[in-house]
Parts: sequence; C-alpha cells; structure tokens
Amino acid sequence: MLQYSEIAATRRRIAEFQLFRPDSIDEACEILAEAPEATVLHAGGIDLVNRLKTGYAPGRIVALKAVERMQDIRIFDDRIEIGAAASHWQIENHAGLKISLPMLPAYVAGLGNIRVRVQGTIGGNILAGEPVYEMLPLLGVLDAELTFFDASRRSWFKLAARDYRRGPTAPPFLTAITIPQRSRSVIWDRRLRPALAMVLSLDWDGDMIRSGTAVLTGDRGGPLFTSLPADRLSRSQAAANCADIAADWARLFPSVDLPSGPGPDYCRHVAGVMLRRALQNCLLPS
Ligand SMILES: Cc1cc2nc3c(=O)[nH]c(=O)nc-3n(C[C@H](O)[C@H](O)[C@H](O)COP(=O)(O)OP(=O)(O)OC[C@H]3O[C@@H](n4cnc5c(N)ncnc54)[C@H](O)[C@@H]3O)c2cc1C
Repeated sequence: MLQYSEIAATRRRIAEFQLFRPDSIDEACEILAEAPEATVLHAGGIDLVNRLKTGYAPGRIVALKAVERMQDIRIFDDRIEIGAAASHWQIENHAGLKISLPMLPAYVAGLGNIRVRVQGTIGGNILAGEPVYEMLPLLGVLDAELTFFDASRRSWFKLAARDYRRGPTAPPFLTAITIPQRSRSVIWDRRLRPALAMVLSLDWDGDMIRSGTAVLTGDRGGPLFTSLPADRLSRSQAAANCADIAADWARLFPSVDLPSGPGPDYCRHVAGVMLRRALQNCLLPS
C-alpha cells in the first residue's frame, strides 16, 4: 500500500489516494469489501486517471494489473472466457481467438488507436459506462455473460452483458466475461460512429437462421438491443427477400436520434439502410 501524495504535488488536481496491488481475485475482493463506497478499480487506467485529474477523489484504488487470471483468455469447446483485465491488444492478437471467434479480434482491432488498445482493457471499456464505447454492444449480441463480485454484499453474481448498464456509483467488480461458442455471423457498421453504429448477429442452425439481434449505439445513448424475429428463415429465403426482411426488422428499432441529424425518422431510415447492408453481408455464402 502506497501513499501517493507525490502525485498530488505534481498533478495538483489529483487528490491523495491509497494504492493497493493485490495478486489474486480473492485478495482484490477483500480489499474492496473493506470500504466498497470509497474504493475503485484501475484496469488500464485511461478513463480513471482522466477522471482523477478532474477532481474525482475515491480515496482507495485497486490496481488489477498484477491480479492472477484477470488477463487470461481461455477457450473451451462450448465457451470462451476472458479475464476482465485482458487488454484490447491481447484480444486482437490472441492466436486461439483468431481461430475460435475471429470476428472478435477483428472488431477489437478497430477500436481507437494502438496506444489505446495496448493500455485499455475489455473490462474498463464496459465499466467506463460511456455510450459510445463498443465492447458492451458487441458482447450483448454475442449473448456474453459478465461475472461480478458485489463488495457491499460480499456475493458473486452473473448478468447478461445485454442487461448491464452502469449507474452513477462505482460499478461492482467485474472479473470475467464468458461468450458461448455458437455458429453465428456478426457484421458491424461503424462508418457513422460516434453518431450511430450498428452490430448485427445471426445465430445459425445449419442453414437456418435460429435467431438474430441488432444493436444500435451512438453518442445520444445506448446500447439499444432489438431481437429480430428470424422464424427459422433459410439462408436462401432470407437472401431472396433481404430488402423486405431488413425493412420489417428496422421497424422494430427503438427511436434513435443523431446529434446534428434531421430527426428520429431520418435516423431510423439510416439505421434501416445499415441493417440491410449488414444482413446482405451476413448472408454471403460462408
Ligand atoms: C483516444 C481514445 C480513443 C478511444 N477509442 C475508442 C473506440 O474507438 N472504441 C471504444 O470502444 N473505445 C475507445 N476508447 C476507450 C478504450 O478502449 C478503453 O477501453 C477505455 O478507455 C477504458 O479502458 P481502461 O482499461 O483504461 O479502463 P479504466 O480507466 O481502468 O477503468 C474505467 C472505469 O471502469 C472501472 N473498472 C475498470 N475495470 C473494472 C473491473 N474489472 N470491474 C469494475 N470496474 C472496473 C474503473 O474503476 C473506471 O471507473 C478510446 C479511448 C481513448 C483515450
């Protein structure tokens, strides 16, 4: 445990804090449980340090860098487990992921720039609570599950990524993300980011679409998930009626608005065009 009064002297706006560097998840949980309201986690530190510079003064900071297992990426037959402190760079370059779920490294490679990806972590991205950050929407359409420790109650719980929204207080401790292994196609469209972005996922049962999910995000809010009524369409049926299906599905989208755009109707139209293009790409022969 260190006293960081030196930092307060050089960066006047950063208040003093105690720094804890646990080696294990159990030790991190113990430290959090001692003072849940006054303790925050430092993963890559990108967002946290920026907040500290604006006067945020949590008092106690727990660094996750040396915590065993929190940076592991493990691949099983039925699921992929990613430690919450795995960096974007690790995910982008993981040889096993490139084989088991190649869309994930490809998606992560499009985040920010190389410096951000080397420092930033998957957990920090989710828990920063920024609507334009891109990991929560993706993990939501992949049906990922988040494993948390609630330090106030000293208890563990799991939550679908799709249902997680950060509240105003410090979030519970996220230790791992589990993604089920399935046959799926995932396509994203970031061209209008940060105003509007979309991810479409179709789950396949052989040549039939078992289910579909689209998510819209933007700097006006989100992620906004929509379950798509695929009704076991075959790939050839869907390809033959792609424009009509996309138009029907786009009507299910919640109201979206672009910050400087001409209103929600136009935004819905844009989201519909994105969906049609994404659907066409998903239906290309694999
Ligand atoms: C210039 C720039 C460009 C970027 N571009 C993109 C982009 O294009 N797309 C995108 O998606 N993101 C982007 N980001 C965000 C980036 O990807 C990082 O993921 C993000 O900044 C936070 O990661 P971190 O690990 O540094 O989090 P930290 O700053 O360490 O943590 C963020 C918050 O989450 C909390 N926290 C961290 N880990 C945990 C945990 N395990 N359990 C509970 N709470 C936790 C912290 O206490 C803090 O409140 C960008 C960032 C920058 C600076």
